[in-house]
Amino acid sequence: MQKRKYIIITGGVISSLGKGILAASIGRLLVSRGFTVSMMKLDPYINVDPGTMNPYQHGEVFVTEDGAETDLDLGHYERFTGIPTSRLSNVTTGQIYGAVIEKERRGEYLGHTVQVIPHITDEIKERIKIVGDKHNSDFIICEIGGTVGDIESLPFLEAVRQMRNEVGRRNLMYIHLTLVPHPITAGEPKTKPTQHSVKSLREIGISPDMICTRSERQLTEKIRKKISWTCDIDIESVISIPDTDFIYNVPVILKNERLDDYILKYFGMDSRVDTFDLWIDFVSKYNQSKNEVRVGIVGKYIDLIDSYMSINEALVHAGVYNNVRVIRRYISSEEIEKRGEGALLGLDAILVPGGFGERGIEGKIMACNYARKSKVPFLGICLGLQCALISFVREVCNLSGANSTEFKPDAQYKIIDIMEEQKRIKNLGGTMRLGLYPCKLKDGTVAYRYYGKKIVYERHRHRFEANNEYKEIIEKSGGIFSGINEELDLMEIFEIGDHPFYVSSQFHPEFASRPLTPHPLFIGFIEAAVTQKNKRNL
Ligand code: GLN
Repeated sequence: MQKRKYIIITGGVISSLGKGILAASIGRLLVSRGFTVSMMKLDPYINVDPGTMNPYQHGEVFVTEDGAETDLDLGHYERFTGIPTSRLSNVTTGQIYGAVIEKERRGEYLGHTVQVIPHITDEIKERIKIVGDKHNSDFIICEIGGTVGDIESLPFLEAVRQMRNEVGRRNLMYIHLTLVPHPITAGEPKTKPTQHSVKSLREIGISPDMICTRSERQLTEKIRKKISWTCDIDIESVISIPDTDFIYNVPVILKNERLDDYILKYFGMDSRVDTFDLWIDFVSKYNQSKNEVRVGIVGKYIDLIDSYMSINEALVHAGVYNNVRVIRRYISSEEIEKRGEGALLGLDAILVPGGFGERGIEGKIMACNYARKSKVPFLGICLGLQCALISFVREVCNLSGANSTEFKPDAQYKIIDIMEEQKRIKNLGGTMRLGLYPCKLKDGTVAYRYYGKKIVYERHRHRFEANNEYKEIIEKSGGIFSGINEELDLMEIFEIGDHPFYVSSQFHPEFASRPLTPHPLFIGFIEAAVTQKNKRNL
């Protein structure tokens, strides 16, 4: 058997160059060549996970199948490679120190002074190796968060520096992502920031084997050569990534640069398989779709679209499937509260995403009402299901005092309530209903039609649940619980009949959508949006 190969991705010059997309794209190229990959991200912050972080600071929290609350880059990894990540795939400084301190308390260090080197670095190396063992993968692609030169990422860089020696020179490759700016006054792209960033990396003891450059345009031969000799790397391993407005185009750019061939050559590997055409088909289909549908996303983080990353992507996937471009309109639920339903007019579909806290809730409930009454296709996710139910009970069952105890602890009708087990929990981090749970679908429902199977497994992240006490009343008024968790006796999907598409789920379907296999509920939602638009244009 081949020895496992490690690809370490670092970033230089500035942050936000897209290391996550680069790592994910490399993963896609290797998967297309028939290899298995495990993706992971090392995050230098001290939080144990991003679960308790504010979306403004961290963007979306991506939930793995096994219920870890992780960095949104893991979402890119899963979407690009099609391979699920796990709680092992996102390691933070907080987790590393937590584990080392616990070991110290248990006396595992036998009285030694516990230090960054070797104890913290050993723990980091261990975490990287474990991922590959668990999934028995050919490659581990490991992205190091932050930018070279940050104090916080030093222990991670030192750990991966040591690793090359341990696993063997030809089993580990360093890829460095930098920026080649094109200042108007200079008249040509500048390589100096790249040279400096490589110099900083060398000071830590790491010499990159490949340099990927972000730049406005494709690098010229002259610039490639300059990077090659100033940074001392092969010319074929200077990879040019010009700006693109479609992230799924990045693997195509890398393929054209023959990045996968270089990696395989570096490791002395061979592969006769190449299924990358499927990916190219997806990208061409996106480029060819001319018709548009407008989907309103009613939330409170509308000025930070990273908070809805997986939803945005799931809409793109389902759009390509239905041959349309999905134009997203972010609508502030607080604006709807202030100015009424006007902002919702002219949309082909409405989506109410997940969220926490009371702010903007009534606006979301108004959007659920509007979509139901005006027969606009609707998808509610997590908090979106809870709002759809509150709106239904207030308006259709005529119980106007309906609410969730998250927003009104003494609500007259507690339609959404916290479960007994959750009431006893004091810690905020990692204590929600998290990860995969089974959901049994009811024959003859919209959900069943799109899933096409009886039992599905979906990812959750919430504390509150639809209250069973109101199940009968809701069903008598025409509400349909098309998906339930039998074991826990919980309602997971709520839909209504006599409507083009009005479906909401307690789980997050967006985490499971992939470019080549869009999520069934998103497919149905966009299909209904297209029908709705065509009808309006008749
Ligand atoms: N705040 C709600 C709950 O905790 C919904 C959470 C969500 O939308 N992810 O149940």
